[in-house]
Amino acid sequence: MIRISQHGPVTCFKMGREINGQVMYWCAAYQVGEVLIDSGCLHTARELAQALIGRGVRAVYNTHHHEDHIGGNSLLAERLGVELYAPPASLERLADPDKELYPYQMLMWGPAPPSRPQPVGEEVVAGDFRLKVIPAPGHSDDLVVYYEPDQGWAFVSDLWVAPRQKTSRDHENSRQILAAQKALAAREPKVMFTGMGDVVEPAAPALAESIAFLEEMAAKVADMAAQGMEPPQMVKELFGRESSLMAHTQGQLSYENFVRSFLKGA
Ligand SMILES: [Zn+2]
Repeated sequence: MIRISQHGPVTCFKMGREINGQVMYWCAAYQVGEVLIDSGCLHTARELAQALIGRGVRAVYNTHHHEDHIGGNSLLAERLGVELYAPPASLERLADPDKELYPYQMLMWGPAPPSRPQPVGEEVVAGDFRLKVIPAPGHSDDLVVYYEPDQGWAFVSDLWVAPRQKTSRDHENSRQILAAQKALAAREPKVMFTGMGDVVEPAAPALAESIAFLEEMAAKVADMAAQGMEPPQMVKELFGRESSLMAHTQGQLSYENFVRSFLKGA
């Protein structure tokens, strides 16, 4: 399924695989000028390629290497002749994408076919707009935000998912996410375009709520660690029980990973 919406000059392509009439996990691509930010997942790649016919997209810029952001790369290059760009730290993983996906990832998104983007520089020209490329590690080590300072548009990808995002994958680092969200907040963005296709405006209160929540969690986890508590105990203390997402994602997304993500240092 693909839902197309217009937000001023930005076009949002919100995509997801429908199962029993429902989309459980959305992914998104955004068009600014002749540039497309991210390419969604493999399962929606054909639909996206079809939807982009006649829209003048010349290049795809990826935000990070996860399969729900790069899955359309190779098909869009083949069908529409677009050029591909990605953060330098993503390139090797895009050429040889992760094949060891969890079953829910295979079902929802599918494995990304290999693609060979060129490295993105510090700025992207997108029609009348210029997007700054801002490294924002934490969700993944290679994630970048594309930011248009005059319009205040922040294409945040998975840097900001929800005001109180409290499940993580095991490689995530919530202290880094907090630092990157604070750095973004200091730029005073007006709109956040998220990796799941949510257009958040005004951006400031949503970003502030997340920053406050992550700061509170960081302090509580540090306190509990100082008392010698282990992560499973911390989960009980903070949330009462483990997230239902843990079962849905075969253990990939959990409160325990979220708690552990604060114990890694920044
Ligand atoms: Zn991601």
